[in-house]
Amino acid sequence: MIYIHVPFCKSFCTYCDFYSEIPGEGLYDAYTAQLCQEIRNRAAEMDDNLKTLYFGGGTPSVLPLSNLTRILLTLEECGHGGPYTEFTMECNPEDLVEKGLPYLESLRALGVNRMSMGVQSFDDTLLIWMARRHNADGAREAFRLVRQAGFENVSIDLIFGLSNLSDAVWEATVDEAIALGPEHISCYQLTVEGDNVLAQRLENGEYEEAPEELCRHQYDILCSKMAAAGYVHYEISNFAKPGFEAVHNGGYWQRRPYVGLGPSAHSFSGRNRSWNSPELKGYTRTTESLSVEDEKVETLMLALRTARGIDGEFLQANCREEDIQRLLREGALAKTGRRYRIPEDHFFVSDEIIRELA
Ligand code: SF4
Repeated sequence: MIYIHVPFCKSFCTYCDFYSEIPGEGLYDAYTAQLCQEIRNRAAEMDDNLKTLYFGGGTPSVLPLSNLTRILLTLEECGHGGPYTEFTMECNPEDLVEKGLPYLESLRALGVNRMSMGVQSFDDTLLIWMARRHNADGAREAFRLVRQAGFENVSIDLIFGLSNLSDAVWEATVDEAIALGPEHISCYQLTVEGDNVLAQRLENGEYEEAPEELCRHQYDILCSKMAAAGYVHYEISNFAKPGFEAVHNGGYWQRRPYVGLGPSAHSFSGRNRSWNSPELKGYTRTTESLSVEDEKVETLMLALRTARGIDGEFLQANCREEDIQRLLREGALAKTGRRYRIPEDHFFVSDEIIRELA
């Protein structure tokens, strides 16, 4: 599993706390040169236990094709080239509309087989409020182009949990996402983190966080619409048509080793976690060993996010039997065969359930 962070955005969204830079003269080439060197240095760490490649960001779709090609050729030189079981590229709808069909066809020719589009909403007022670069029509057109280019595995990202998101707008957004027919939909609850524009709005009294009941209400709307449309709710924030569950992200939840490349990218060796510093030039890596307790909490947190749940033997060896039995009685845990899982109607409070078990 290989993750490549592309730390460029043409503008910054109000709610975003990811590391990213505005592209400037020579920066794509400087980034690519350093990334390719990192690939060479760390090739021995890539074990292809799951042969996936994921370009995330930032905004990978701003990266010129020539740079993307250099990165892929370097992976190939190092023995980790395609074809990949899953090769995902995160993209901004505006880039796809601007660059058009030839760009998308080139991505396909380079082996990209899954597109993940940051749509967030189909409401223009909200998109402006979020400072997204695209509008709703742009998202529709981008989706049409992606299909025209022949992509058969497309994911759409949406955001809920906003105090200024009405039921009517949220329902219309979810309905439209479903009507487009993507194979996968990810929905993230807005959180205020760091010192981004949203945090400043909150501090200045220009925004109020959505109360928990409202977030829950929006999540319930989402879950019932997705179920009615035949999507499987296979992870707290993720829904897929059967057979289109994300392979790469699935590897994270199973705690499979992965190599993260590029500024601010995280890696997991199976024993240690490491992360690159968030800076474009001369980024460095810090490694942290996980204690037995860290491993236990991580395993619980990641596995119980998924509908697949966790192996019963692990749960019984690491958690108190009385807690397990109480949560089963309360309906906050369910048991199927040897596995335990959090039922969908308790996904929203999974953090509390996991805290009780850990
Ligand atoms: S949400 Fe995505 S596009 Fe917006 S600033 Fe963050 S990384 Fe960039």
